[in-house]
Amino acid sequence: MQNERVLSILRSSNLKITPVRIQVLEVLLESGVALSHTDITNLLGDNTIDKVTLYRTLNHFHKNGIIHKVANEDRNWLYAILVHDQDHLEADHLHAHFICDDCEKIYCFPFGSYGYDNVVSQRNGFIVNKQEIRLHGLCPSCH
Ligand SMILES: [Zn+2]
Ligand SMILES: [Zn+2]
Repeated sequence: MQNERVLSILRSSNLKITPVRIQVLEVLLESGVALSHTDITNLLGDNTIDKVTLYRTLNHFHKNGIIHKVANEDRNWLYAILVHDQDHLEADHLHAHFICDDCEKIYCFPFGSYGYDNVVSQRNGFIVNKQEIRLHGLCPSCH
C-alpha cells in the first residue's frame, strides 16, 4: 500500500510523521519524474501547503537523503525520490538523468554499480565527490 510505504520511509529516516510530509512524499513517490515546487503544488491539488512549509519539507527530505535535486534545462531545481524498489534508502546513489527534449521531463535512470571508479582510474589526482550523467532523447510519451 502506498501509504504504508510512505510511512516506512519516514520512519526509517527518523523523521517526524506529519500530514504535510506524508502528502508531499506521496506525490514524489507516485511521480515517475523529477518535480519542481510548482509541479508539487499542482499535484497536491486541494491539499494546499504554503510555499514556506513546502520548501522546509523538501529541505528536510533532502538532508535526510529521501530525495535529491536535479537542475532542469532552465537551471531550476527539481526534486526526485531517492528510494528504489526496496523500502530502504539507497546509500550509494548512482544514476543518470534522462531529459526528454520534447516534454522536458526528467527521469532518474539508476545504473547500479557502474560509476565513477571507472572514470577516476583514468585520471590520477582527481577526487570525484559527485557525478552527474545527463542523457537526452525522447521519453515514451513523446515518440
Ligand atoms: Zn517526453
Ligand atoms: Zn535522479
